[in-house]
Amino acid sequence: TSFGYKQVREEEKSKLVGNVFSSVASSYDLMNDVMSVGLHRLWKGRLISKLNPFPGMKHLDVAGGTGDVAFRVLERIKSVGHRAMQGTLTETEEDTHIYVCDINPNMLNVGKKRAAERGHSEEHCLSWIQGDAEALSFEDGSMDGYTIAFGIRNVTHIEKALSEAYRVLKRGGRFLCLELSHVDVPVFKDIYDVYSFSVIPTIGELVAGDRQSYQYLVESIRRFPNQEKFAQMIQEAGFQRVEYENLVGGVVAIHSGLKL
Ligand code: SAM
Repeated sequence: TSFGYKQVREEEKSKLVGNVFSSVASSYDLMNDVMSVGLHRLWKGRLISKLNPFPGMKHLDVAGGTGDVAFRVLERIKSVGHRAMQGTLTETEEDTHIYVCDINPNMLNVGKKRAAERGHSEEHCLSWIQGDAEALSFEDGSMDGYTIAFGIRNVTHIEKALSEAYRVLKRGGRFLCLELSHVDVPVFKDIYDVYSFSVIPTIGELVAGDRQSYQYLVESIRRFPNQEKFAQMIQEAGFQRVEYENLVGGVVAIHSGLKL
């Protein structure tokens, strides 16, 4: 039956996603820089600006892997707090808590190591939690912010992840998603196709020694709903004021929504 077929495909997908990220965990950060020619840093910066983190906030970064987004949130909060309080930690600042949730323990371990390297090992405000975006272990209405960067594309049931995001956010909380999306600019689209179908798997092979995983990543970008469709899904999960911003002609998009 088509249902049976779908089941198998979904199981395969989960397994495949697991394998991909186990095999790329150690070379993950390098690959990000190489494949996006460093642009992912700017994109994440833009994501953080939109989030506008504040001292005392409870923030959840899902598919947070190596902590790249979480560190930026934390560093932004500290810089905001320090500007106001001239270097002393305020009570509100100490209430700040950032949770990094990822399904893959290898990615979390790389993140913990990086936290130590960045001088965040003694932070009580960072937690690393293994978990599935589709079934979060956090309480209803417990978060001020939710981010997911380059993660939702890998989730088996996107709607479940979105409804979980909605559930864990407080009223007034913001949902933000940074994801590789669809380019719809003539000529640039053709260049991007060549880049993603030929160049990315080749870089994957040369830098990470793993062509297949990167081929999978490219295919998953193609299968992911386009900007409009994804915005609609976010709305269907209950979010309001849903909007998106394309970066580099839609190579990536940042979707946002509020739980009101
Ligand atoms: N957010 C990080 C960044 O932008 O650098 C990591 C992105 S990485 C491309 C995707 C991450 O999603 C991996 O760490 C993977 O383990 C995680 N992931 C995949 N499926 C997931 C799921 N269902 N729930 C939580 N995390 C998941």
